Amino acid sequence: VYNFAAGPATLPDPVIQHIQEELPSLQGSGMSILEISHRSQMFDDIINTAKQDIKDLMHVPDNYHILFFQGGGTGQFAAVPLNLATNHHKIALLDSGHWASRAGDEAANLGVDVDVLASTKEQHYTELPKMPHPISSADYDYLHITTNNTIEGTAYHTLPEHGDVTLVGDLSSNFMAEEYNVQDFGLIFGGVQKNLGPAGVTIVIVRDDLVKHVDHVPTILDYEKFVKKNSMFNTPPVFAIYATGLVLKWLKDQGGIAGIEAINRKKSSLLYDFLDNSELFNNNIKKSDRSLTNVPFKTPDPELDKQVIQAADEAGLKNLKGHRSVGGMRASLYNAMPLEGVAALVDFLSDFEKQH
Ligand code: PLP
Repeated sequence: VYNFAAGPATLPDPVIQHIQEELPSLQGSGMSILEISHRSQMFDDIINTAKQDIKDLMHVPDNYHILFFQGGGTGQFAAVPLNLATNHHKIALLDSGHWASRAGDEAANLGVDVDVLASTKEQHYTELPKMPHPISSADYDYLHITTNNTIEGTAYHTLPEHGDVTLVGDLSSNFMAEEYNVQDFGLIFGGVQKNLGPAGVTIVIVRDDLVKHVDHVPTILDYEKFVKKNSMFNTPPVFAIYATGLVLKWLKDQGGIAGIEAINRKKSSLLYDFLDNSELFNNNIKKSDRSLTNVPFKTPDPELDKQVIQAADEAGLKNLKGHRSVGGMRASLYNAMPLEGVAALVDFLSDFEKQH
């Protein structure tokens, strides 16, 4: 089957096979990865290798820290303002959809002043909000953006102009799926359960000068403590970090992020080209803002959409139901989705169109 879920999502077959073979005994130790201590040499090697592979793949400069947290993207909606909104207690935000808005709500909930510079809510988020005017670090601790809007199917392929304001990027749904320049950001975060591994790990990449002591930050969200303890202040999600490490090796085999982005472009073009030429199916996202990883589409009739989802499921094309706020279908084409999976989807949709 091909799994088009928005997350947790499909993992590369060779990684699943590797895990299956190694599950009873890690590196001949007689113990499973599910059983080893996070204080063991074996795990130390696993986490440090994963960090190095992230550094290599994303060309992370030396003045950035790579951290592993639990709590998902949602945890970082709290961690980022707690650690970074400490000077002006005010942040800027571009409201590009559900997850950007959730991030803003959480910051506001923590007493931070959230200035929504622009929103495309009225356009049902079918395009990205643009910067309405220049901004300055004299006013804001940072600007929050969601690089890829998982539910709505838009993505910033070029970053908004942000002057000297620290840029914070929620890359949860296109982490390592397309190239970004880490140096353009003060901080990047993402749950790994879409492009990189199983649920349970959140990667944070943060510039050194932003890591400092802040009073009253819960330890589990404290960047300074996690830097000092190499992400092992408490017990980390050992298995999830191990599995993510295997996916990182697989990504290197695909030609790194440039290699996988080229494949992701092919995959999404194949589907968008079909949709743009279809008389039944439609993707209504502004072309320049279309996501490479999440493609929502609809027929004119919600009842027919249900039939599409049901028939696709029976044909082995799984989890195509769109998010409840958008309806219709959504195909998530994360890194581990092969081109053949998208070709199978397009064939299926094309047949469905002929029959209806
Ligand atoms: N940010 C984005 C862009 C997402 O797509 C998601 C989840 O789908 C989240 C944040 C929330 O992530 P989590 O479920 O890991 O808390």
